[in-house]
Amino acid sequence: MIELKSKREIQLMREAGEILKKVFAVVEPLGVEGFTTEALDAAAEKVIRENGGEPAFKGYRGFPKTSCISLNEAVVHGIPSARRLKKGDIVSFDIGVKWKGFYVDAARTWQVGANDPQKQALIDTAKQSLKTALAAYQPGWRIGDISEAIQRYVEERGFQVVRDYAGHGIGRQLHEDPQVTNYGKAGRGAKIEPGLAIAIEPMVTEGHYAVETLEDGWTVVTQDRKNASHYEDTVVFTENGFINLTSDEVP
Ligand code: MG
Repeated sequence: MIELKSKREIQLMREAGEILKKVFAVVEPLGVEGFTTEALDAAAEKVIRENGGEPAFKGYRGFPKTSCISLNEAVVHGIPSARRLKKGDIVSFDIGVKWKGFYVDAARTWQVGANDPQKQALIDTAKQSLKTALAAYQPGWRIGDISEAIQRYVEERGFQVVRDYAGHGIGRQLHEDPQVTNYGKAGRGAKIEPGLAIAIEPMVTEGHYAVETLEDGWTVVTQDRKNASHYEDTVVFTENGFINLTSDEVP
């Protein structure tokens, strides 16, 4: 069942989004050569707690850390560790914040100390697929309109979208209805109504979209071990369009 959010609830989610944006502002400069992924995670937790929030992922189904940090062929759910970032790594940093009972969720991907054009195209495609889908949004859309727009954007650039994981409704729970797949057909799925809050999260692969989970029980990698990227924002729809709660960039 989809729980539409009231104005007051949207305000609380906005505040949660402000904390999450501060996390990115602190962590992205640390995402350079030599830093461990654990150091990024510790910095993220510090920012969240100093601002009165709670890390949404820590303890979720037993997940041990505050953030998911997925490198290179890892798509999502990587566990921060003593692994030091190396030049050329693709870092996907996914973070959730809980504030006064409400969640927001977002992810960014970047390259460490390099500017490989193919890797950058992969990274930019995940981000721009989300931005392009939102920019095209029209009243009357259903979830499938977002899904199709993301899939089309990604596939036109020669990449693929992961099928096994999807975006999701969000609010009082980290994961709520509806599912927001990164593939699909326009006109299908739940109606987008005022008060609908969703985390949209394109997961894009350089090769085939098939994924598998490593023995740690969490890290999701591409089966062909080719690179992946991930971008996510939490967005709420209103009578006047949408508000991106986790990014100040206009699509
Ligand atoms: Mg998510």
